[in-house]
Amino acid sequence: MKKFLCFALFLFSVLTINAQQPYVLLVSFDGFRWDYLNRNITPTFDSIKQIGVKALSLQPSFPSKTFPNHYTIVTGMYPEHHGIISNFFKNRVTGDIYKLSSKEAVQNSQWYDGEAFWQTAEKNNIKTASYFWPGSEVDLNYRHPSYFEEYEHERDYSMRIDGVINWLRLPYDQRPHFITLYFDAADTYGHRYGPNSNELNETIKKLDKIVSEISGKLKSIEMQDSVNLIIVSDHGMTETSPDKTINIEEFINEYVYELDGDGPVVMIQPETKFKDSVYSILKRNENHYKVYKKNEMPGYYHFSEHPFIYDIIVIADVGWSLIKNSMLEKINNYFRGGNHGYDNHHLDMHGIFVATGPAIKSNYTTGTIRNIDIYPLLCRIFSITPRSTIDGEIEKIEFILK
Ligand code: AMP
Ligand code: ZN
Ligand code: ZN
Repeated sequence: MKKFLCFALFLFSVLTINAQQPYVLLVSFDGFRWDYLNRNITPTFDSIKQIGVKALSLQPSFPSKTFPNHYTIVTGMYPEHHGIISNFFKNRVTGDIYKLSSKEAVQNSQWYDGEAFWQTAEKNNIKTASYFWPGSEVDLNYRHPSYFEEYEHERDYSMRIDGVINWLRLPYDQRPHFITLYFDAADTYGHRYGPNSNELNETIKKLDKIVSEISGKLKSIEMQDSVNLIIVSDHGMTETSPDKTINIEEFINEYVYELDGDGPVVMIQPETKFKDSVYSILKRNENHYKVYKKNEMPGYYHFSEHPFIYDIIVIADVGWSLIKNSMLEKINNYFRGGNHGYDNHHLDMHGIFVATGPAIKSNYTTGTIRNIDIYPLLCRIFSITPRSTIDGEIEKIEFILK
């Protein structure tokens, strides 16, 4: 009898603890600029806004690129602290290269510092899943979600949603409570045709229907009222043009250096004896870009502390593109539509934040939210303690919760 009582008590406590666990579905629409929601072509977003929270914009971290920002959203850290400082960078000690097109690199845990929310959650007995998210495929069991899909760019969008729904239909003890979901289209079409094109607007309409499909399918499994749906984007987009390009190599051809990146941001590592000369000549020609020494980067960029950041950083003015010698011949092939990666304070680089669900206030509009504050928000929703060494602050975002 005593044994039975103990077991019953245990069962009761397990069930009540789990029953209290909330659900969060974190959806990212890559490159969805904040003002795409103001074009009168997003009826589903409009209806979510009324029953939930909409921020004026979501401020990305610098550089306003895909991998740094998706990883910031799930870690609450600036790229200089979580280590994914760009979509492409080098470990100059080992020569290893990180790039998003390399499966081997994106799955190699050595690049990722900090702790993604799925790791914090799993430590607290919350099951997690990811239908695509940068950093979710790392090769250490304790650092990836219980369930995840390997990134496949062409995977059908409805299939992605069905994957999430199938996870939510799992028996309770196997069911994830935190799930990520990712769609590239706004970024892909924004690059190709620019943020002011008809093609991009058609894409926005399709993505609005995707939100409707997500809501509809949550409803079909009777979970629409229990899931907190948080929709974000990693950055915005601005129009570029082959006429607004600067070949910075033209100024420094006589020196020896390594140069990585193109477009909005370039990092240069000159041979030590040339460091001051390279900086001075770029400074003298500073027009449509800004050049900084790593240790003199303005604090508001939060981009100086990581050892893989090169000694000189060049940032193009919004809409301008930095190019190198090797691109000169085919310059008309580059920078036709849109791009991002620029100063994260410029509104064109800002993304969206829209949320609804049992934990979220209804019919509430707020100003700009910072993407570093989403990790502590997730911790608060699940009532778990965030990692102490983060950059995000719960005080800057908690007012959107009930
Ligand atoms: P970018 O516009 O260069 O900042 O990067 C956008 C691209 O990142 C998308 O078009 C995707 O192909 C790629 N991408 C997004 N998520 C992932 C992922 N989890 N793994 C690999 N590539 C990804
Ligand atoms: Zn992106
Ligand atoms: Zn992009």
